[in-house]
Order: sequence, then C-alpha cells, then structure tokens
Amino acid sequence: MRLSDQTHGTSPPPHNILQELSSRRVIGIFFAAVFIWAAVSGVAMNWIVEKRIAGYLASEQQDISRRLTATSMQFELALNRLRGVPAVVAGGSDVSGVLEKFGPDVAPMKPSSKPQGQSWFVRPELQALSRQFAKIATELEVDVVWAMNAGGDCVAASNFDTATSFVGVNYVDRRYFKSPQAGERGYQFAMGRVTNVPGLFFSYPVRSEKGFLGVIAIKVDLSRLAPWVSGADEFVTDDNGVVILAGDANREMRALNSAVMQKMTVAQLDARYKRSQFQLLDIQPFGSSYDSSLVRVAGSAVPHFFRTSDPTPEGLKVHILAPAVNIEGIRRDGLAMFALLLFAGVSVASLMVGAHIYVRRIRQHQQSMQITNEKLGQLIQELEQLSRTDALTGCVNRRYFQECLNTELDRAHRYSRPCSLIMLDVDWFKKINDSFGHAAGDEALKEVVRKIGRTVRRQDIVGRLGGEEFVVLMPETGLDSALATAERIRKAIATEPASFNGIEIPLTVSAGVALMSADEKPDSADSLLHRADQCLYQAKSAGRNCVMPAAA
Ligand code: GH3
Ligand code: MG
Ligand code: MG
Repeated sequence: MRLSDQTHGTSPPPHNILQELSSRRVIGIFFAAVFIWAAVSGVAMNWIVEKRIAGYLASEQQDISRRLTATSMQFELALNRLRGVPAVVAGGSDVSGVLEKFGPDVAPMKPSSKPQGQSWFVRPELQALSRQFAKIATELEVDVVWAMNAGGDCVAASNFDTATSFVGVNYVDRRYFKSPQAGERGYQFAMGRVTNVPGLFFSYPVRSEKGFLGVIAIKVDLSRLAPWVSGADEFVTDDNGVVILAGDANREMRALNSAVMQKMTVAQLDARYKRSQFQLLDIQPFGSSYDSSLVRVAGSAVPHFFRTSDPTPEGLKVHILAPAVNIEGIRRDGLAMFALLLFAGVSVASLMVGAHIYVRRIRQHQQSMQITNEKLGQLIQELEQLSRTDALTGCVNRRYFQECLNTELDRAHRYSRPCSLIMLDVDWFKKINDSFGHAAGDEALKEVVRKIGRTVRRQDIVGRLGGEEFVVLMPETGLDSALATAERIRKAIATEPASFNGIEIPLTVSAGVALMSADEKPDSADSLLHRADQCLYQAKSAGRNCVMPAAA
C-alpha cells in the first residue's frame, strides 16, 4: 500500500574540539619538525665546519712548510757563498805577506787609536791591500772586507777611505776574531763597532809556518740580506734567539721567549747588540682543539701558524709566524649556512602546515556541502511526499491519484493487463459528524483508511478523492478479485466500529467496483472513475453497506 513515507536526515555537525585537537597536533608536529631539522642541520653544519677548518689548516701548514723550505734553502745558499769569501781572500799571497810583517806575536795597540791606524795606512803595501779589498767587496757584493793582525788590530779594510774606516780599530774581543784565532772559521751577528750598522760577520784565519798571523773578515749589512726574507710573516733569529731580520720591521730586534740572550750579561748584550733591553716576541701554545701546533701571539686574538727551520751551522733559524685568519671566516660561513638552512626548514614546514590546513578546510567545506546537499535532497523528497499526500489520512491525495491512475491505465493497456478500481463512500457520514462531532468524524475517516490499508496489497494505491470518498487502484487485478477486496474492506469497517475518546462510532461504507475495459475503446481515467462512481451510486440506492460491480 502506498500511503506516505517519512525520512529522517541525520548528519552530525563538524566537532570543534576535534578540530582544535587536530590544530594542536599540527602545531606540535610543526615545532617537532623544526626542532629536529635545527638539530640535524646544526650537527651537519658543525661537521662541515670542522672538516673545512681541518682542511684549511692542513693546506696552510703544507704551504707554510713549502715556503719555509724555500726561504731557508735560499738563505743557506746565500750564507754558503758568504762563508767561503774570507777563506778565498785569506788565500791571496798579498794577505799573508802583509800580515807576516806584523808577525804572530804582535801586541794589540792600546788604546785602539785611529791616528796610529792612519799612520799604518800610509804604508804602501797596506794601502794596496785595502784597495784590493775594496775591489773584492764591490765584486762579491759584501759591505766590508778587512784584515786584522794577530793582535786583533785592523790593518787594511775595504772602507779605508770612508769616515767609518775600520783601519786601526781593534777586534780582539769579537767572536769572529776569537774563533779563527782558535783555528776555526768565524761567524757572528753584531752591530758594527764603528758603523753602528747591524750585520753578519764571517771570518777566516791567516796562518803561515810561523803560526797565526791574523784574520780576514767580511761584513754583510742586514739591509743587504733583507730580500732573502721576502714574506711579511717570515723572520730570522740569530744563535741567541734575537730576531735579526724580519719581513715585518716591528719584529726586528725582538727576542723569542726561549732566547739564549736572556742569560747574557748587560755588557755582553751591549757589546753585541749595542742595547741590553729586548722586547719579547711572546709566542705561547694556543691550545686549539683543531691543531695543537697553533700558537698565540701577544697582542693578537687570532691563532698563528709557527714553523721554524733547522739551524744553520751559525745557529741562524728561519721562522714563519702567520695568522690563521680563515678559521673565524669558516665559522661565520657555517653559522650563516646554518641560519639559511633553519630559515629554509621553517619555511618548508610552514608551507606544509599551510597546505595541510588548506586541504583540511577544503575537505570540511566539501563535507558541509555534501551534508547541505543531502538535507536539500531530503527536504525535496519530503516536499514531494507532502504534495502527494492527503494531510488528514496520510493516503494519496486526489491530484497524485489522478497521475497514478493515468500511468497505471497506460501500462495496463500497453501490456494488456487487467486493472480495477474500487470507489468507496462512508454511509451517512453527515450524521456521524452531527452525532459525534467533526473531530470524531476525522478520526473515523483515518480509521477507514487504516482498515483499507490493512486489506489491500502493497502495490495497490489508496487515494482520497475528497470528503468521505476514497478510491483503491488495483493493478494486475480482475473484477472478481477487486470485488472480493471491496467486500473484505466493507466487512472490516462494518464489523468493528471506530473509536474516539472511548466512544464507539459505528461505520459502514458503500462501494462501486469497475474493471478497466479491454475492448477497442479503452477506458480513460475519467471514464473508469465515472463507471465506478455509477456503481457506488447503485450501492447507495440499494440500501448502502454493500458492493456493486460495474459491467466491463
Ligand atoms: P450518503 O450515505 O448518501 O453518502 O450520506 P452522507 O451523509 O454520507 O453524505 P453527504 O454528502 O450528505 O455528507 C457528507 C458529509 O461529510 C458532509 C461533510 O460535512 C462531511 N465531511 C466532508 N469532509 C469531511 C472531513 O474531512 N471531516 C469531517 N469530519 N467531515 C467531513
Ligand atoms: Mg459522499
Ligand atoms: Mg457519504
């Protein structure tokens, strides 16, 4: 039976607490991801920085080693040439001939006096020797060449004709005199006794069968040696640990912490360096975790490389003291790279969170759209249902019944199937209204529809044509079956009164039953209704509470 159906739309609204929890979770994941990214990139950057610093230090150390080797080799070559010069000069026949005249036992002139020296100088053989020395000095590019007799007095010198002539000066206390006196080559760094110009001294003994006759010495001013030390970070110390030559002039005449000169007396220092106070070139271990050989230099926060060559036979050492400037730069680069990585990580995480929130919003929007659409569909369905339903009894209303009737009749014609129609009218209904009231009449109409509904099949359509008049459309049903159904309805209503507020309302119905004609002129909806109505009229005339069939 088709009366009316009811549907219920149920879709829970999106839960705010869930949304909030989800947002908190996303924010938590965001911060956790940023934290992990920061930790990983921090460790990675630290590793890279350490690697770069280690690489930088190793390559710098290699470079410094190479430079140190090159500089000390050049230095050694130059020294080697200078070492040989006094021996070559001493080997000249004039030299021993001149010094022999003074003899091995000549006493030094005391006090050292220039005037007497000058008187020697007027001796022609000494003058000739001095001139010869001047020539040798120019040719071999040394600053002074001179000869001392066995008493240490200079008897001939290449600078004989200058204001700072060595002739007549006594050098018996100098190491470069004492060593040859003892039969060895002599070497010394000292400030020039006459010139006050610092320089390196090399010497060689002059001997004959008579014994020690004197010493040939040469001096090379430090200024002439300057090109050997080309780098600003290179310097040379003498055998006492005093810086005698440096690319950086500020380092000259400073002493290393471990310098021997610290144990020398003031007189010794003064004789050699013409000063007794020395500023230290303070070099201490830096304590770097990267390279234990790095040193700290007083006055500088930057760690320095410090490498020293092996000493020459004279005790000279070449050093390189260079700042490791790139360590801080590499660290700064690492920090900048870390900041960049962190920024990129935060940006990517923010983008992902943004995308997540966007996708979630879209999904929520889609869900709410779906819910709205579903509700709208239900509403339309409900409206359609309402428009087809009789408000009082819930059965199909007249308009929709007409539609159904047309459709069914078409179908029955097309497939040549039987189709019957029962038309029912409550008897003496006006009296019921009058006797029990309109509300009781309404209840009686509902009870009639309930009973019809319980009697007919599922596919039968019950409609209210108006007032207390009802119809039942019975597809696939012949006249006999329709009559039997109408009879069952009549009986059901007549045998059991309706009840309203405890009052029993006796009811009867009259019915007319018509079968759709199967002849050449098929029934329209109106003609079928009309024929059923005529039967109903006959039933009323026959005394009511009965069923009348129409002829097909
Ligand atoms: P008959 O046996 O010849 O059909 O007599 P009757 O009294 O049933 O017929 P009549 O046409 O004279 O009266 C029908 C009454 O039904 C009149 C009207 O007040 C009443 N009626 C129509 N619709 C409704 C309704 O929805 N509710 C109620 N309570 N009464 C209705
Ligand atoms: Mg009526
Ligand atoms: Mg009636």
